Amino acid sequence: MDHPPFVDHPLGEDFGVPCIPRGFCSACAGPVCFHCCPDHTTVHHPSMNAVVVEVSMVEGFPAISYAM
Ligand SMILES: [Zn+2]
Ligand SMILES: [Zn+2]
Repeated sequence: MDHPPFVDHPLGEDFGVPCIPRGFCSACAGPVCFHCCPDHTTVHHPSMNAVVVEVSMVEGFPAISYAM
């Protein structure tokens, strides 16, 4: 996928919405917001072996876990 990360983000230009993209998509190689795109791999990469990992801060360190 060569599109910018936020091309899939319907609220990407609405800075009044407190969205925090906590996911990282292996196919997009960019951040994914679970709030706006909860089924990202299913919707955007149905034929790809894409993986979205969840990135969260645990005690000051970034922790990655497989969200789907
Ligand atoms: Zn993606
Ligand atoms: Zn969002």
